Amino acid sequence: MNRSPFLVEASDLLGRDVPPRPVIVEAIVDWGLEMSRVLAEPPLVAELSVGPVPGGILVRGDVCYTVEHVCRRCLKTFTDDGCDPVAGLFETNPGEDAYPIDGTVIDLEPFLRDETLLGFVIQPVCEESCEGLVTTPEMDLNTDSPDESDVAGSPFAVLRDLLPPGD
Ligand SMILES: [Zn+2]
Repeated sequence: MNRSPFLVEASDLLGRDVPPRPVIVEAIVDWGLEMSRVLAEPPLVAELSVGPVPGGILVRGDVCYTVEHVCRRCLKTFTDDGCDPVAGLFETNPGEDAYPIDGTVIDLEPFLRDETLLGFVIQPVCEESCEGLVTTPEMDLNTDSPDESDVAGSPFAVLRDLLPPGD
């Protein structure tokens, strides 16, 4: 059986008066947004506690992963790793902010995916001092955008000199 690592059997918790128990999920995921993607290696690890609440199951803990971002200033890729605190409610009859319980099983994947993507920075920047693709000539340090200060060094500058002015 190729059982999802995100499925947790919760029959020992549902409707019972028992303390939360730990659940550790380790999984290779392919979750991402436009500028950011969770890497397959190392795998994502979620260290959670899973416990009963009236009408359902409360899951909370930390999710840790490595993410590859594209810097929105210089467009280089860079990686970042860390952990985000997460918390989610699973209910047999899920309300608006809850995830469903399928029989006695909870599927942590949509919950952890939502929480992970929410934890991404919206506009990743490789470092605060990143100069990016600079557009002003006096800050023109590492750009390869074709602005005026680059023209003198390009082969097209020679061609331009050969052309009659005003043509
Ligand atoms: Zn950058």
